[in-house]
Parts: sequence; structure tokens; C-alpha cells
Amino acid sequence: MVNIILLGPPGAGKGTQAKRLVDGRGMVQLSTGDMLREAKTSGTEMGNRVAEVMAKGQLVTDDIVIGLIEEKITGNSGGGFIFDGFPRTLPQADALGRLMEKTGQSLDAVIEMRVDDAALVARITGRFTCGQCGEVYHDQTRPTKVAGTCDACGSHDLRRRADDNEDALKQRLLEYYKKTSPLIGYYYAKGMLADVDGLAQVDAVGVAIAKVLDKS
Ligand code: ADP
Ligand code: AMP
Repeated sequence: MVNIILLGPPGAGKGTQAKRLVDGRGMVQLSTGDMLREAKTSGTEMGNRVAEVMAKGQLVTDDIVIGLIEEKITGNSGGGFIFDGFPRTLPQADALGRLMEKTGQSLDAVIEMRVDDAALVARITGRFTCGQCGEVYHDQTRPTKVAGTCDACGSHDLRRRADDNEDALKQRLLEYYKKTSPLIGYYYAKGMLADVDGLAQVDAVGVAIAKVLDKS
């Protein structure tokens, strides 16, 4: 059992690869983005504030996301946790380290998914996902076999995200370079960093990630 972080800018392919690891290895995906989108629909004051921040492409405060993760990591970890979109700041990384230690768990690898910005606009603006099973699609590179129907679960609940537009993406990338990319040095210094070519085909990225997992 291994616990890993998938690190990379929006559109790097973290969710796509996390889904493969859930299906293939019984790992448990912990996506703070998914958790926050769920909170957004609650209609509470906190939910409304979070929705505004996310729509602008800014980061939600550390306290909120750390609280969400804290609730999950005492639960069942199956074949291991995949942290997807968390941590995104140095304080979040420190908090995760402390929480893992406190719960007697290890963090085994941090996989940086390298892509260049030019690819990200096309990836983000073409993305849609299944609201039922989380399968990730793309208008051009990964369409559903039957229009409007999820290949994986047959649902017709296919969704696009409100922040998957060019303006919000610009802000999301700024946040990534300013606040999240320092984590590359942070985990490198701890000897935990591995990188994979996120521009390769989905299957090839999956193979590269599997190699890292099997070594950890
Ligand atoms: P993230 O979770 O890092 O934001 P996603 O996994 O949602 O990224 O992927 C963003 C978009 O790019 C999706 O539409 C997905 O289908 C597509 N995508 C993911 N990985 C690849 C890849 N290796 N090659 C081409 N397109 C990809
Ligand atoms: P994602 O689904 O990972 O692309 O995240 C979507 C949005 O949710 C981000 O642009 C942020 O507004 C918010 N978010 C997700 N994870 C975090 C995090 N770890 N810290 C702060 N904000 C987050």
C-alpha cells in the first residue's frame, strides 16, 4: 500500500490518472477540488464563499482544505491514498506531513506531472466529466463513444466546470506557479519527488506512474 501526491498544474492529468489508480489498484482518490465542488452545492454561507473564490480561479484558504483532508485520512485508505490537488501551498504540505504522522501513515511518493502551459488551455477548455462516476473526457482527444453517455457507467450526467474557461485558467496557473510550484523543491529536498512526462498519451503516463509506485 502506498500513499502518493499527484502534483501538477490544472489540466496536467491528475484526475485522469487518479481514476485509473482507483479502478486498477483500489486506491482512494482524495481530490480537494471535488470536495469543494460538493461543498459549493450545499447552499451554506461557506459554500457560497467557496464558489466565488473557485470561479475566479483563486485558492481557497488553507484552513478549509486542511479541514476537509483531516476528515478523510482517518477513513479507509484501500490500496493507498492519492492526494489530487492537495497540498497546493507550503502550509498545506506541512499540515499533511503532520496529519500523516499523527495517524501513523507514511507519504511514499510525490509524482510531478510535467506539461507545458501551451497544452493546458486546449485540455481545460475541452474537458468534461461524468457527474456519477468521475470519468474524465475531452471533446477532441477523449470523447465518449456515444455522444452524451458515459462510457464507464452509462450515465447521461456529463458536466463542464464553471472555472474551465481561459480567464479563470490564467488565474489558476498564476496561483500554481506562485504558491504550488515551491512544493517541487520542498519534496525534492525530502527525497520524495519523481517526475513523469504529462504530455505523453494517457496510457503511457499511467505506465510511468505505475513504475514509480512499484519502486516506492
Ligand atoms: P487535472 O486533474 O490535472 O486538472 P484532468 O485529468 O482533468 O487534469 O485532465 C484535463 C483534460 O486533459 C481532460 O479533458 C483529460 O481528458 C485530458 N487529458 C488528461 N491526460 C491527458 C493526456 N495524457 N493526453 C491528452 N489529454 C489528456
Ligand atoms: P481542482 O479541481 O483541483 O482544479 O480545483 C479547483 C479549485 O478548487 C481551485 O482552483 C481552487 O479554487 C480550489 N482548490 C482545490 N484544491 C485546493 C487546495 N488544496 N487549496 C486551495 N484551493 C483549492
